[in-house]
Amino acid sequence: MTELQAIDYIRRRAAGSAAKGLILGIGDDCAILRPRAGEDLLFTTDQMVEDVHFRQSTHPPEAVGHKALARGLSDIAAMGGEPRFCLVSLAGPLTEDWLEGFYDGLLALAHRTHTALAGGDLARSALFTCDIVVCGAVSKGTALRRDGARPGDLLYVSGRLGGSALGLQTRTGAAWRRHLRPEPRLALGDAVRKLGATAAIDLSDGLSIDLHRLCAASMVGAKLDRDPPLFPGATLDQALHGGEDYELLFTLPPNVKPPRGVTRIGRIVEGEARGPLPLRGYDHFRTS
Ligand SMILES: [Mg+2]
Repeated sequence: MTELQAIDYIRRRAAGSAAKGLILGIGDDCAILRPRAGEDLLFTTDQMVEDVHFRQSTHPPEAVGHKALARGLSDIAAMGGEPRFCLVSLAGPLTEDWLEGFYDGLLALAHRTHTALAGGDLARSALFTCDIVVCGAVSKGTALRRDGARPGDLLYVSGRLGGSALGLQTRTGAAWRRHLRPEPRLALGDAVRKLGATAAIDLSDGLSIDLHRLCAASMVGAKLDRDPPLFPGATLDQALHGGEDYELLFTLPPNVKPPRGVTRIGRIVEGEARGPLPLRGYDHFRTS
């Protein structure tokens, strides 16, 4: 497949992927988005690098495509936003089969979440790398940030944790599916924003690190009163430090009734701007 054929293939696959405010998608030098009055735009970028984030021998291209977009959408969810579009740059050996699988996975999630594929770039290289930008939108001034938690707020987590780490270890069953195809919590992010959540973050690197990030940004401490719910078969260690669960961690004022499907695990206290758990979540720069 030549580059032109590949671009034509992607353009055809992306056709009809409309998003609110997207005036021009794939096919010109730039995509055009016309923001609505009264909204803030959110931007996030993520990489998926072969042999760092996935392996060709175990990760089907469809799962790589799904996960590449899911990670960006999880960031949009953590801000309480609604996705608008994504830009996807791919490098790799880029065979026809791999591209087809990758876009099957990516576009299935894109259509389900009303995220347009609005552009991207292709390059040949020995290893696969996917670089994705996701743009979302949120009512002006209402985005959920990490820095708004206050002493007295209650700390909640969605879903069950540790499934992704368990799946990476067992490569089988529901946990492996969980690892390959995480579901971004867009509806929950929007719901807790509307409920008046004071801070939120998505669990990409592990509860220990991500709670620490929330505490550090908010200049508060946290006390945990119970363990987070465990994914069936997962250990507490995997739930606390495993990462890639893409559930939401958020804080609500004590008088606010939480939505269904979330668990209160602790509360925010005055303190030293750090999390209460030892930091053993995933760190790309860690050398030992
Ligand atoms: Mg995040």
